Amino acid sequence: MTSRRTRERLIERLMDQGICNFQVVSAIRETPRHIFLDEALAHRAYEDDALPIGFNQTLSQPYTVARMSELLLSYGPRRRVLEIGTGSGYQTAVLAQLVERVYSMERIEPLLDKARQRLRLLKHENVFLRHADGAIGWEEAGPFDGILSAAAPEQIPPRLLEQLAPGGVLITPLGGDEQHLVMVYRDPETGEYDMQEIEPARFVPLVRGVLR
Ligand code: SAH
Repeated sequence: MTSRRTRERLIERLMDQGICNFQVVSAIRETPRHIFLDEALAHRAYEDDALPIGFNQTLSQPYTVARMSELLLSYGPRRRVLEIGTGSGYQTAVLAQLVERVYSMERIEPLLDKARQRLRLLKHENVFLRHADGAIGWEEAGPFDGILSAAAPEQIPPRLLEQLAPGGVLITPLGGDEQHLVMVYRDPETGEYDMQEIEPARFVPLVRGVLR
């Protein structure tokens, strides 16, 4: 189930789908996805599918995690990254291997507690977690040269745009019934924002407020 060969097959599939950043590929290869799932689902961990993690939420599909990580690194290495929607902690664990520090926010406390345990098990010491509504960002830890959201807002929360450093890049799904993955780059000289639509997407919605 968690054999090297099963994981290698997933990596081959991602590369077939166009994932080519070597760092991203090796971070996914090194991340044991099965520990982010309940035992009953662990045998499906290396399929390229989104899988349920409770509270109506899902662990992102490996392709999505890979694609978003690749986009995040497309303007060069990132030092401080804000992640909205820790969920299981899987994407967080992948990011922890790719950037200097990851600040990850989750609105559902029981999910965050589980993610915290898993990330401790993997000994990622550059990860900081907070139970809060990610739409307000994490001002004390910012500005961020990367922001990545795993939940789709109808409009990009203004606080996130404010906390994006000049030269920073924000990756998020955007929209309601119809969503697109978008990439916002903040010009290092003018501070202006440039938004690019990447591809159609399907994420859980960004929901305001917190749940205990
Ligand atoms: N990358 C995660 C995906 C989790 S799904 C993984 O690999 O497991 C998206 C997550 O976003 C859910 O856990 C959901 O609770 C969370 N979320 C939705 N709206 C949010 C908000 N306003 N603030 C923080 N987290 C939010």
